[in-house]
Amino acid sequence: MNSIVVHYQEIALKGKNRPWFIGRLVRNIRQATSDLDVTHVRTLNGRVELVLGPRASYDDVRGRLEHVFGIANFSRAGRTRPDIQTIADALIRDLGDRETPSFRVSAKRSDKRFPMTSPEIEREIGGRIKSARGWHVDLSNPALTINVEMLTGEAFYSFGKDRGPGGLPTGISGRVACLLSGGIDSPVAAWRLMKRGCSVLLVHFHSYPLLSRASQDKVRELAELLTAYQLHSRLQMVAFGEIQREIVLSIPQPLRVVLYRRMMVRIAEQLALRWNAKALVTGEVVGQVASQTLENMAVIDSVASMPILRPLVGTDKEEITAEAERIGTYPISIVPDQDCCQLFTPRHPATRAHLFEVETAEKSLPIAEWIVRALGSVTVEDYYFPRTSSEVRPSASPGHPTSEVT
Ligand code: ATP
Ligand code: MG
Repeated sequence: MNSIVVHYQEIALKGKNRPWFIGRLVRNIRQATSDLDVTHVRTLNGRVELVLGPRASYDDVRGRLEHVFGIANFSRAGRTRPDIQTIADALIRDLGDRETPSFRVSAKRSDKRFPMTSPEIEREIGGRIKSARGWHVDLSNPALTINVEMLTGEAFYSFGKDRGPGGLPTGISGRVACLLSGGIDSPVAAWRLMKRGCSVLLVHFHSYPLLSRASQDKVRELAELLTAYQLHSRLQMVAFGEIQREIVLSIPQPLRVVLYRRMMVRIAEQLALRWNAKALVTGEVVGQVASQTLENMAVIDSVASMPILRPLVGTDKEEITAEAERIGTYPISIVPDQDCCQLFTPRHPATRAHLFEVETAEKSLPIAEWIVRALGSVTVEDYYFPRTSSEVRPSASPGHPTSEVT
């Protein structure tokens, strides 16, 4: 059994998007498995087939496919001629010494010219397995489901299914830029947009050298982890400590957090435009902390000219934490660090900043100059998955910032 048959989400398959969706999915699967011995990735009749070479391990490939968005499910499969006897023989041979208390055959016929219906195929092949192995048939709740797929000129059989991550293939929904702190929420927000097919630029604001490099190390680790999902990530680090210090010097405590966020949005938007991104993403949640109120979000939004997406806006902390654990970002996010905002965060931020008040306060600040300075400080790091991907350029491997400013 040296094939893997991948089934994709049906939902996005309507109309003209179909070839685009499938082409991107195939490309992403190829890249995600490029360092494993996968000899072919091809489309066939509403599925994708991977052919494993002699050195490929199914478990390794499964680990990769579990990260490729757009995959609904997949299974290790054998390929034969579309002929009942041939399928049954190959299938019984590949069952080896496997035992099961009950089984059923589930057939799909994508080539309707095949002279038997799906229930007939199920009965025929099921009957042969039953007499070869003596297993009990259970149509409603089988311990083992044997899948048979009849295609044009070939057939596949497989035992059970592995779940894919769902979603849409990364890259088909355009680009966004996520404000990535080292906290729990924003990596989950970034992941959710990746799952919806977006390529996510990661933008981090740090306070080095006023604070340690810890927050940068955390976002590097987060970027590396998230790259297993989106295959290529660009991380941009912006020096923000000096701006925060100057805000602290001239702005009353309650307004500071909203001013930091508005500055971050202005700067991130410039980076987003250069990356051709259409929206910003944050990990904000209504009511999670005193500064994340609807009023403050409106004041933050009013400085942006592109939409600010907040995919976690209505989510509880427990739900976000559980999702961060599933994705794998949680252990990185909880490592203590001095987030740029912690040092400069007032104890009692305004819960209802007024736009007029904020805009008046900003009039005294050299905003345009700060933006230019911040953009001049940006460092760019590119991450690729897998690390040995042929696309990795020497200056762009993880943890090797280039001095390029984009
Ligand atoms: P997170 O867990 O994502 O840090 P949080 O609950 O700590 O979120 P805040 O610190 O109020 O919330 O930040 C709100 C949002 O602002 C974050 O989700 C993130 O999108 C953005 N943000 C905050 N600090 C930074 C930073 N240093 N760099 C980039 N984005 C940031
Ligand atoms: Mg935070």
